[in-house]
Amino acid sequence: MTTMSDARRGLPLTSSRIEKIFPKLTPAQISRIAAHGHVRSVLFGEVLIEQGDKAVPFFVVINVEIEIVRPCGARETLVTVHDSGEFTGEVNMLSGRRSLVRARAIKPGKVIELGHQQMLALVQTDAELGDILMRAFILRRVELISAGVGDIILVGSAYSTSTHRIKDFLMRNGHPYSYIDLEHDSDVQNLLDSFKVSASETPVLICRGQLALRNPSNQEIADCLGFNESIDQTQIRDLVVIGAGPSGLAAAVYGASEGLDVLALETGSPGGQAGSSSRIENYLGFPTGISGQELASRASLQAQKFGADMFIAKASRLTCDRKPYIIELENGARISTRTVLIATGAQYRKLPLEDLFRFEGAGVYYGATFMEAQLCSGEEVIVVGGGNSGGQAAVFLAQTAKRVHMLVRSTGLAASMSRYLIRRIENTSTITLRPQTEIVAVEGGNHLNSVYWRNSQTGQTEKHEIRHIFVMTGADPNTGWLDGCVMLDSKGFIKTGSDLSPENLSAAGWPLTRQPYLLETSLPGVFAAGDVRGGSIKRVASGVGEGSVAISFVHKVLQE
Ligand SMILES: Cc1cc2nc3c(=O)[nH]c(=O)nc-3n(C[C@H](O)[C@H](O)[C@H](O)COP(=O)(O)OP(=O)(O)OC[C@H]3O[C@@H](n4cnc5c(N)ncnc54)[C@H](O)[C@@H]3O)c2cc1C
Repeated sequence: MTTMSDARRGLPLTSSRIEKIFPKLTPAQISRIAAHGHVRSVLFGEVLIEQGDKAVPFFVVINVEIEIVRPCGARETLVTVHDSGEFTGEVNMLSGRRSLVRARAIKPGKVIELGHQQMLALVQTDAELGDILMRAFILRRVELISAGVGDIILVGSAYSTSTHRIKDFLMRNGHPYSYIDLEHDSDVQNLLDSFKVSASETPVLICRGQLALRNPSNQEIADCLGFNESIDQTQIRDLVVIGAGPSGLAAAVYGASEGLDVLALETGSPGGQAGSSSRIENYLGFPTGISGQELASRASLQAQKFGADMFIAKASRLTCDRKPYIIELENGARISTRTVLIATGAQYRKLPLEDLFRFEGAGVYYGATFMEAQLCSGEEVIVVGGGNSGGQAAVFLAQTAKRVHMLVRSTGLAASMSRYLIRRIENTSTITLRPQTEIVAVEGGNHLNSVYWRNSQTGQTEKHEIRHIFVMTGADPNTGWLDGCVMLDSKGFIKTGSDLSPENLSAAGWPLTRQPYLLETSLPGVFAAGDVRGGSIKRVASGVGEGSVAISFVHKVLQE
């Protein structure tokens, strides 16, 4: 960690790339920025941005000093001071979400000011400045996350499933927060008392020091943090993408970059299943691998940079008997659109064990990221499933766990598992492959503490004191909400393009003389991409490919 000697930087930085986090712009760069906005005077003490402001302006310092602070009640924590040639902002600049900090002039003088839309136009049109600004915004957000500098405090317990869910939602949405653990923090009761909350009502999310939300849903957290506030819900969109996994994110990036008015709906956090992958090693262009979360947050920013709106909400119904199509959201809102891309992916299959849900997030996990790896470091763990995701999880966890027991129902690893993974599993001495073995029971209090597994060949059941199970047994398509609007195959995946037989099309009432385009469903102008599509290859790259290819057919439909 680099602790900055310069007292003007308030936070200890985790990155040594200070010149990339706080770059100094050259006079030529500053004059190019000035062409997008206007120069104005600021007074001593003037608050340029208040914590909680939406779609905040962007400032380049000409000759003032701007301090960035995190207000917390009457106290302020210094984040940094910007002086000549520096600029304000972090990733909220692109999304238009509420500001996490306050910006105040501590020396009067002049600044260049750009509105939110002017700022987006700048990063879209000036490649050199776009690069400098985007990199600084992302690195600044990383620093805010690692320092826990945000506008919310989560009070919870490491043993609570809901605490784990909320942490996961915040982490995967890239929102910084402070965390107070009930078991370890003696001062927590005073904080809870001040919001008239009892310990039994935790987890509690304290939102901008004002509101205490008891065990909030993802939607309530998104509403409280104003994730969706800057998004116009009344306009008719060119394209609504439902699901922001790799397929949906690719569609949002390509669609928005090609001038379409795109809104992407996501019920959880951008990245989908891929977002829960600890390391994706087979995605083109990342020879040392990339974590699913990093890939997702980059793609999500890229989509927003091109002007796509990212809306955190669940699509609960598609009104498909009239045009424009209407997507109804779980909270009752309705969004109209000329075309739709369904990229809702698939859902993890659970083990058929009565008590399993009690331990979800408290010993039972469906993804193996650094967060989970920390929780079980030095302990024995179980990975269930012999496919690619099981293999990856086993190899990843073996780096920190004492032993990884890989349980598979069949006689060996799945034929579909990549060769490189099979070799790694074979060469890792801390991974024990247990074929023909299934978990038959789990036990524990607040946390899982023992597992019974049975070998179907010997019929023997054994009890093991293992506190962590990673369930990697595949997924079912998220298509239940479509309610008959599009033709599905026998497993519930969406049929598209040439997979739709003449009988399918006549049963669906296909109204056009042309056949459905590649990736088009039985409903004209409604496309499907990625894992939710019947016959798709369940990979990040193929999802990304399908999401981007779908855009060329969206253009055709919009011209019909
Ligand atoms: C642990 C793990 C590791 C993996 N590792 C790799 C790998 O290394 N390489 C590789 O190529 N593939 C990997 N995969 C597979 C890959 O992640 C998937 O094929 C890919 O994520 C599919 O992308 P998708 O966008 O089609 O769907 P998903 O990733 O499933 O995304 C769908 C999104 O839609 C959202 N959604 C669902 N319903 C709704 C609704 N009603 N309203 C709004 N939003 C909704 C979901 O919340 C989700 O975010 C891995 C998968 C897992 C689980």
